[in-house]
Amino acid sequence: MSERLQVMGIGGNENGCAVIAGPCAIESKMITDRIADSLKRCGVRYLRGGAFKPRTNPKEFQGMRKAGIEILREIGDKYQMVVVTEIVDTEHIPMFEELVDIIQVGAKNCFNYELLKKLGKCKKPVMLKRGASAKVSEWLMAADYIRHGGNENVILCERGIRSFEDSTRFTLDISSVQVVKELSKLPVVVDPSHAAGRRSLVRSMTLAAVAAGADGVMVEVHEVPSESMVDAEQALDMLEFSKLVEDVELIREVRNVRGT
Ligand code: PEP
Ligand code: MN
Repeated sequence: MSERLQVMGIGGNENGCAVIAGPCAIESKMITDRIADSLKRCGVRYLRGGAFKPRTNPKEFQGMRKAGIEILREIGDKYQMVVVTEIVDTEHIPMFEELVDIIQVGAKNCFNYELLKKLGKCKKPVMLKRGASAKVSEWLMAADYIRHGGNENVILCERGIRSFEDSTRFTLDISSVQVVKELSKLPVVVDPSHAAGRRSLVRSMTLAAVAAGADGVMVEVHEVPSESMVDAEQALDMLEFSKLVEDVELIREVRNVRGT
């Protein structure tokens, strides 16, 4: 695959590595503002944050919903950041088209073909996470559901798959980065946070993803990780994160010289 696609500055033939970061969930305007301010100081241009949270347990925080999307948009505009957030319902497409820059499809919806088909008619780029049980071929066909509708702007996101191994939340399939690059021209991002499930592993898995040739990484951060309303165990604090961003750049430079 020689001509690789670039979507919202991610991927293409340049050897860049985009960093997408932010809290698991939008919790308040004040917290989102402070996190975005710190991220911007680290040079991050992509702000993530979930407003519609498809939680496994219905009793847990489901997100701020539309109010969360509005906060994300306002803070994104304030710091001139590209905002990324997850969609869970086709009914929300008009709202996302208006307020969101990159629409994320979560792992749980990788096989939601009606959602994917409707996103194929949508004007905004889509970041499609790999389903926890999706083979690479199934993940790429899920992307084709979006592309066949006319929306070519799809970013793939590897976030770990379910295996027999239970020492990590999921098993990060690091080889999928190059496997996908051999099969597709779409940009590939890696989310080490959800794969690892715990803070101590996020740094090494992020750097491994960059070394493996990822076009971007998506990392969960929080100003006080232990107070994060969702996924507190895996969020990095700002100091850990700022060091990580510097090292992402170092690995990317090595990759640039030697290739992947
Ligand atoms: C997320 O990125 O907020 C998320 C829920 O991830 P996943 O869909 O990969 O579980
Ligand atoms: Mn999360």
